Amino acid sequence: RSKDAGGGTFRSYEPQLHVDAEERRVLEMALRKAVQNNEMHLHYQPVVSADTGDLTGFEALLRWTHPVLGNISPVKFIPLAEDARLIAPIGEWVLRTACDEAARWSSPVRVAVNVSPDQLHNPAFVSVVASALANSGLPPERLELEVTESVFMREGTGATKVLERILDLGVRLSLDDFGTGYSSLGYLSRTRFSSIKIDRSFVQGASKGVPEAIAIIRAVVALAQSLGMATTAEGVETEEEHRMVQDLGCTKVQGYYFGRPLPVEEARAIANRNWNKAAAA
Ligand code: C2E
Ligand code: MG
Ligand code: MG
Ligand code: MG
Repeated sequence: RSKDAGGGTFRSYEPQLHVDAEERRVLEMALRKAVQNNEMHLHYQPVVSADTGDLTGFEALLRWTHPVLGNISPVKFIPLAEDARLIAPIGEWVLRTACDEAARWSSPVRVAVNVSPDQLHNPAFVSVVASALANSGLPPERLELEVTESVFMREGTGATKVLERILDLGVRLSLDDFGTGYSSLGYLSRTRFSSIKIDRSFVQGASKGVPEAIAIIRAVVALAQSLGMATTAEGVETEEEHRMVQDLGCTKVQGYYFGRPLPVEEARAIANRNWNKAAAA
């Protein structure tokens, strides 16, 4: 998905990978069989409280290892899957797997799952979420769905209705990559997001002293506070960046400084070790 369409100074830190027509055709064919061939798995990245460092949850991040092509970045294959209309089945697999795996952690930490606009424009997605929860036994309040601003750009209110029904299930919503798309404040007041995730480009800018980045983080934190939402700083890589976003009032942090995306066994070990802290959070 294009996150650099805003034309501003702040671009998504994700590299724009060039995929030519031939590569696209090959990857698309491989993607069609990736789930059934067991080539997909999830990594989990810790999300922690900015002030205490206590674990609050993990974000599930999809990984694809093709037997010949090797590891392929989601930055490359997610947009392809979206274009080829393969994201719904792949996304359903992600959701069910994340719920199954998180339900086995002996800790009430949350699991966040990324959801593409295509999934949210289909009313049947509500029953997919309900069934993933029922089959796994994961309590709804432990599931968080991450959506990006692009979901609100399409015509009609279909996605807004789907989001409402997902909220009715007791599932949380967060707004991912905030500030990198066509931001409109209207939907922020209309949809009950639990948290706004501030894109890494602002975090980097702020720690380098870029006044505009600092101003934007301040404004987003103030807005989130007044709407009763948390703010998560994405892509915190250094102690300096941590201190900066903490001073600016971000409530949660995520990034290599606190932990890289981890295989499920390692995430489970961390979740289990932190269960009492998480219960208190
Ligand atoms: P995202 O949802 O914004 O996820 C955060 C990305 O930032 C992840 O990249 C993560 O590994 C990376 N990251 C975390 N901390 C740091 C840091 O300190 N420094 C840097 N440089 N990067 C950091 P990843 O795993 O490559 O995923 C990229 C994007 O692909 C995600 O961005 C999300 O938009 C998409 N994606 C991943 N998994 C899924 C999925 O299951 N479904 C959908 N629809 N999209 C997914
Ligand atoms: Mg995300
Ligand atoms: Mg993000
Ligand atoms: Mg991102």
